[in-house]
Amino acid sequence: MTGYVAPTEPPTRGWDLHCHTVFSDGTKTPAQMIAEARERGLDGVAITDHDTTAGWADAQEAAHAQGMPLLRGTEITACDEDVSVHMLAYQYDPRSVHITRLFAATREARLHRTERMVARLAEDYPITWDSVMEQVREGGRTTVGRPHIADALVAAGVYANRSEAFADAVSADSKYYIPTPSPTTHEVVRAVSEAGGVVVIAHAGDMSRNPRLLSDAQIESLIDEGLDGLEVWHRGNPPEQRERLLAIANAHRLLVTGGSDWHGAGKPNLLGENLTDEDTVRRIVERGALPLWR
Ligand code: AMP
Ligand code: FE
Ligand code: FE
Ligand code: ZN
Repeated sequence: MTGYVAPTEPPTRGWDLHCHTVFSDGTKTPAQMIAEARERGLDGVAITDHDTTAGWADAQEAAHAQGMPLLRGTEITACDEDVSVHMLAYQYDPRSVHITRLFAATREARLHRTERMVARLAEDYPITWDSVMEQVREGGRTTVGRPHIADALVAAGVYANRSEAFADAVSADSKYYIPTPSPTTHEVVRAVSEAGGVVVIAHAGDMSRNPRLLSDAQIESLIDEGLDGLEVWHRGNPPEQRERLLAIANAHRLLVTGGSDWHGAGKPNLLGENLTDEDTVRRIVERGALPLWR
């Protein structure tokens, strides 16, 4: 990659490349995401709902209408040995059969596992499958998960907000927890590459998500398979992990990205609190199968 120099400090302007809407576990629509990106003076934004492209059309329409450049993406649920991994895929062909099958399987597995978790929780808490489904904004087009269970518990008055639910009954450490069966990181890198996209490991230094992080060796084998970058600028990555991830990125000439992991009212993360610089965005667009959407 000619002349790419990853920023060593968090960019103070640029794009937010990690945002969720009502098409997964965010609480705002794609149009509200675009409007807020404008208000905050961002150069552009990416839509990255979990395991779906269902929000792309609405985001495209709003981005065009409001004059805000858009990257099209998805945060893909994956696993690598015993580590749960999220991978951000950008600018791939959404018609790719491999990737649409992969998403359909993950969403089905998520739905089934969420139903089983609700059955367990319903024994001790005043929630039902119907009360969880009431929290889902776009019906069958929404990727369902634990946040919707958390919202049902909040609606039932058990917790004050999602974060409290995640700290207790909905936590991965609770007795009600069931993991989501997911494709491996290797399968995801292959599927995104085949679909002409750019693939980045999300928040790889976030110790709160896993008892252990991906090792350097695990990341390096994904680099050999075509991994494009690492999300370094994310509130979940502490300073020493940012340094570690930057060192890996620089040694292998990977793209370095940043994003807020905005979920609207579903998390405290603010839109634009972490950013990706313009040069990195340009390279994502150059590598990807889709044009920049304006
Ligand atoms: P799931 O993929 O169904 O296991 O749910 C995990 C999702 O819950 C993640 O993608 C986060 O967006 C969300 N999440 C995790 N922890 C919290 C938290 N403390 N508060 C709000 N949302 C959270
Ligand atoms: Fe989420
Ligand atoms: Fe994530
Ligand atoms: Zn996310």
